[in-house]
Amino acid sequence: MSILNGKVVVITGASSGIGEATARLLASLGVHVVIGARRTERLEALASDIQSDGGSVVVQQLDVTELTQMEAIMEVAQSRFGRVDAVINNAGVMPLSSMEALKIEEWNRMIDVNIRGVLHGIATGLPLMKKQGFGHFINIASIGAYEVTPTAAVYCATKYAVRAITDGLRQETAGQGIRVTLVSPGVTESELAESITDHEAKEMMKEYRRTTLPAMTIARAIVYALEQPEYVDVSELVIKPAM
Ligand code: NDP
Repeated sequence: MSILNGKVVVITGASSGIGEATARLLASLGVHVVIGARRTERLEALASDIQSDGGSVVVQQLDVTELTQMEAIMEVAQSRFGRVDAVINNAGVMPLSSMEALKIEEWNRMIDVNIRGVLHGIATGLPLMKKQGFGHFINIASIGAYEVTPTAAVYCATKYAVRAITDGLRQETAGQGIRVTLVSPGVTESELAESITDHEAKEMMKEYRRTTLPAMTIARAIVYALEQPEYVDVSELVIKPAM
C-alpha cells in the first residue's frame, strides 16, 4: 500500500493534461483527490473514471483567478475529509506571442491564471496547513522558469514568478511541518499549446513541441515529491525529454 493512501490532495487545473494525469495516479494510490477547473463536464468524466476504478474523488468548479472559488474548494476538501495534505497549484495557460504583437489581454490572462492563481492557492492553503501543522505545496512552473525564449517572454515571466514565490514560501515555512516543491516540466503532451492565437508563435510551437513527454511522467514526479518522508523537502524537480 502506498504511503499516500488516505491523504487528501487538492489539484487545480485537473480537467486535462498534467492535472488530469496526476489526479488519476494519486487516486490509484488511495488518495482522496479534490479536483478543480472551469470545465466541469471534463471533471465529471474524469471523476466517473476514477470512481469506476474504486478511487475517491470530489469535483469542484474552480476559476483560480477568483479567490472566493479557491476558498470554496479548500472548504470542500476540509469539510469532506477534515484535512488537506497537499495543494497542487497546476492550473496554467500559455497563449504565446511576440511582444510586438501587443496581445495585452493574453498577457493579463497569463498573469491572472499563472501567478495570481498560484497565490490564491497559497493564500487559502497556507492558513489551513499552519493550523494543521502539516501540508505540502506543489507548484507547477516550467523549464520556462529558468530560460526565456522568443514569443514566451510573458509566459516565462509568470513561471519565473512562480519559482520566486515558491522559493520564498519554502524559506518562510521551513521548520513548520510545511513542505514546498517546485515542479518544472519540459515539453509535455497536453492541451496547453491550444491557447495560442498568434500565428507565428503557433508555427514555432509545432517544431518546439515535436518531442513531448507523456503527462503521466510529470504526475510520477509529483508523486515522488509527495511520497518522501516528512523530514524530506524535495525543493525543485526539472523533468525534460531525454532527447
Ligand atoms: P492543459 O492545457 O492540458 O491544462 C491546463 C489546466 O489548467 C486545464 O485543466 C485548465 O482547465 C486549467 N485552467 C486554465 N485556466 C484556469 C482557470 N482560470 N482556473 C482554473 N483552471 C484553469 O496544460 P498542461 O497540463 O500542460 O498544464 C498544466 C501546468 O503545467 C500549467 O501550469 C503549465 O504552464 C505547466 N507546464 C506545462 C508544460 C507542457 O509542455 N505541457 C511545460 C511546462 C509547464 P479549464 O480550462 O477546464 O479551467
